[in-house]
Amino acid sequence: MTGPDGRAPRSAAPVLVLNAGSSSLKYQLVVPGSGEVVAKGTVERIGEDGSDVADHTAAVRQMTAELTAQGLELASAGVRAVGHRVVHGGPDFSDPVVITDAVVDQIRDLSPLAPLHNPGAVAGIEAARAQLDVPHVAVFDTAFFAGLPPAAATYAIPRELAERYRIRRYGMHGTSHRYVSRAVPGLVGRPLAELNQIVLHLGNGASASAVRGGQAVDTSMGLTPLQGLVMGTRSGDVDPGLHPYLSREAGLTVDEIDTVLNKQSGLKGLSGVNDFRALQELREAGDAGAELAFGVYVHRLKHYLGAYLAVLGRLDVLTFTAGVGENNAAVRTAVLVGLEGLGISLEPARNEAASREARVISPDGSPVTVAVVPTNEELEIARQTLALLALPAP
Ligand code: AMP
Repeated sequence: MTGPDGRAPRSAAPVLVLNAGSSSLKYQLVVPGSGEVVAKGTVERIGEDGSDVADHTAAVRQMTAELTAQGLELASAGVRAVGHRVVHGGPDFSDPVVITDAVVDQIRDLSPLAPLHNPGAVAGIEAARAQLDVPHVAVFDTAFFAGLPPAAATYAIPRELAERYRIRRYGMHGTSHRYVSRAVPGLVGRPLAELNQIVLHLGNGASASAVRGGQAVDTSMGLTPLQGLVMGTRSGDVDPGLHPYLSREAGLTVDEIDTVLNKQSGLKGLSGVNDFRALQELREAGDAGAELAFGVYVHRLKHYLGAYLAVLGRLDVLTFTAGVGENNAAVRTAVLVGLEGLGISLEPARNEAASREARVISPDGSPVTVAVVPTNEELEIARQTLALLALPAP
């Protein structure tokens, strides 16, 4: 990929996309125009006992070493920018932003809203800025939902409390919902502006969104990524009265309740496993807990599907994405069974065909097109990074 001067030709210059968590650093070198992935990897067990990777500084060093081992010297690979995934942009960030010291401080200040996510992102950003002398851009998972209508974004709690503590529905997975909802027009051959869409992002974390003309008008995650759909280890919606009840009756502390709902609930809480493939194996073996977990998962999805049909008034395209949504035909079937009266149905052969491509899985001529679109958050981050820096995409 190098030209005569030993540098990458500008047209093929990749963006380095980093997704730093508290104990892992995922990286991908991606060419924004073509989507070509030049290299990718994950540095794991950052800061854990017995790990060689003491902190995020060491993790960035290891990433550089791994790339060098593949013949990719970051300094000469023509990397034009680094795009960082940041989960929570709070009320401050509704668009990608070039990272300065002040921006790092702001992202750190948002940590109470995403204690499991933002501190790792800050550590990754600081380590990468110290070692990679190119522009760094933060792309926020909440940004796609910053323009939600107030009626959808507002919790019915005292307004002064909400204002003081920055409480609203922020929504997450926005980078994925944006990427998928903007890939749909090309798939169905209709302009974004005239499409009413529902996107179901079903991975280990899961969320739904309603998108009208390219603008998000509702989403299932809230102040934090705990609200909404049933997830691998997260409960999604529960009665808010559960928290004081558990505190008073079970004697659990706030942190213990947080752990129960975020890490011990969802599919795992109901069946013992959080991975959908393991859940399917248990179901096939006749496990009652796994069957119940599947039923609760699907029922919650139907709730949100019905809600967003009503919010949108008319639905044109319903799209499944992420690990479960892209790969699990049984979930898609179970969610959509019985909805023919609403114009929603599946073509079984299309639904069950294994594919990694964006594809339509409803019958031709259906009132609602049902699609599967593989998400690509890294490519979306790379594109938004380049767009912000006003560098022409290769
Ligand atoms: P994600 O968070 O998008 O990586 O999705 C993770 C979830 O997707 C896990 O529950 C996996 O079991 C599920 N998943 C990933 N690949 C497959 C597959 N090929 N078939 C069924 N489920 C899958």
